Amino acid sequence: MTNWTPGSWREKPIEQTPVYADQAALADVERQLAGFPPLVFAGEARSLKRSLAEVAAGRAFLLQGGDCAESFSEHSADNIRDFFRVFLQMAVVLTYAAASPVVKIGRIAGQFAKPRSAPMEKQGDLELPSYRGDIINDIEFTAAARRPDPQRQLMAYRQSAATLNLIRAFATGGYANLENAHRWMLGFVRNSPLSERYSQLADHISETLGFMRAIGLDPEHHPELRQTQFYTSHEALLLGYEQALTRVDSLEGGSFATSGHFLWIGDRTRQPDGAHIEYIRGIQNPVGLKCGPSLKPDALLRLIDAIDPQNEPGRLTLICRFGADKAAEALPTLLRAVSREGRNVVWCCDPMHGNTISAGGRKTRPFDRVMSEIRSFFEAHRAEGTYAGGIHLEMTGQDVTECMGGARDISETELHRRYDTTCDPRLNAEQAIEVAFLVAELLKT
Ligand code: PEP
Ligand code: MN
Repeated sequence: MTNWTPGSWREKPIEQTPVYADQAALADVERQLAGFPPLVFAGEARSLKRSLAEVAAGRAFLLQGGDCAESFSEHSADNIRDFFRVFLQMAVVLTYAAASPVVKIGRIAGQFAKPRSAPMEKQGDLELPSYRGDIINDIEFTAAARRPDPQRQLMAYRQSAATLNLIRAFATGGYANLENAHRWMLGFVRNSPLSERYSQLADHISETLGFMRAIGLDPEHHPELRQTQFYTSHEALLLGYEQALTRVDSLEGGSFATSGHFLWIGDRTRQPDGAHIEYIRGIQNPVGLKCGPSLKPDALLRLIDAIDPQNEPGRLTLICRFGADKAAEALPTLLRAVSREGRNVVWCCDPMHGNTISAGGRKTRPFDRVMSEIRSFFEAHRAEGTYAGGIHLEMTGQDVTECMGGARDISETELHRRYDTTCDPRLNAEQAIEVAFLVAELLKT
C-alpha cells in the first residue's frame, strides 16, 4: 500500500467534517479511543469478505439495512431486538423463497455520523450549524446543542460496544434459532396483511425442520440452524474516530477498521483525491461506495482502481442510489464499464436515498418509488448479464409512519402519527418485510 497510514487522510482535502473549537479536547478523545479495545476483529471482517465474494460470484444475496442514523436517546434493548427480529424475518423470507444464502449486514452499532446537504440550518430568524449525527452534535435546535463536542465520540464507542454485545448474544445465543421463526412474529403489528404470508412461510420452515428430524438429521447438531452470522456497518465519515480505531491484525497483518465489519463512503465524500477515499483505500475490511447520479463511468473506474487495485472478490460493494426515475438510464452504462474492465464487485441497490421527497412539510419516501428503483436495478442486471447482488435499506423494527404507501398504504396526512427518525425516513417493520417478499419474487424469476 503506497504511502498509506491510518492518518494519511489528514493531508488531503476533506468534505463534510465538523469543526471542533477545542482541538486539544479532540486530540485527547482520539488518544483515549486509540487505547480502547477493538469493537470487531479482523478475522470477522475477513470472513465477511469471503461471504461477499460469494455474492459477487452470484451465489448469495446481500441484505444490508438499519437506521439512517442511530441515536443516543433511542438506545434500548427493545429497539435493538425489534430491529434484529425484522431483519431475521426478512432474511428468512429471502433465503427460503429464493433458495439463496443471505449475507446479513446491519447499519448498526456505529452508524452515527451524517453528511448534510447544507452546513447551516435556519428556523425562523435563527441560523445554527446542521445536525451531523449524535457522534458529533445534538439534534436540539440551540447553539449549545449544535456545537460539535468530541466527548460524544466516547459515547458513540460505548453505545456501539453495548449494541454489538446484544446483537452477538441474539445471533448466537438462541434467539436466531430457525425453530423460533414463528415466535419472531410475536410483537409484530397485529392484523398485518403481511403476517399471514409470513406465518405460512414459518409453517413451511417448521415442516422442513420436522422432516429433517424424521430422517435423522437433528437440527440441534447443525449450528447454521441455531445461530446466524450478523455483521455491522456504517458510513466512514468521521475519520479521526475511524483512525483511532484502526488496528493492525496481529494474526495476518494489514490494517483493519475495528469500528465495524464493513464501512462505506457516502455519495458526498467520494472525491478521488479526497480524505475519505484515502482512508478507505488502506484498510483491509470489505468496503462500500455509494454511487449516485453524478458519478460517471470513468470516475467510477478510477475509484475502483484506488479502492480495490487487486480486484479482490468481496472487497468492494457498489451501492447504487440513483432514484426511481434515473436508475434505468444511469445503471446500464456503469454496469457495462465495470464488466468491460473485468472488475469483481458486488452490486447492491439502495432504493432509499434517490427517492426522498417532501410531503406535508416532512421528508418521506413513497414505497412505490422504492420498489420501482429495485425493479429497475434487477432489470438492468438481467439485460446486462450481471448479478443484482443485494439491497441496502433504511428501516426500523418499529411501527413508524415515515415512508408513505406499502400494504397499509400510509398517506401523507398520516406521516405525523409516528415520525421518529432523527434523519432520513425509514421503512417500518411491515414495509421492510413487504420489500423482502417482493425482492424474493424478483430473485426467483
Ligand atoms: C446514507 O446512507 O444515510 C447516506 C447519507 O447516503 P448517501 O451517501 O447515498 O446520500
Ligand atoms: Mn440516510
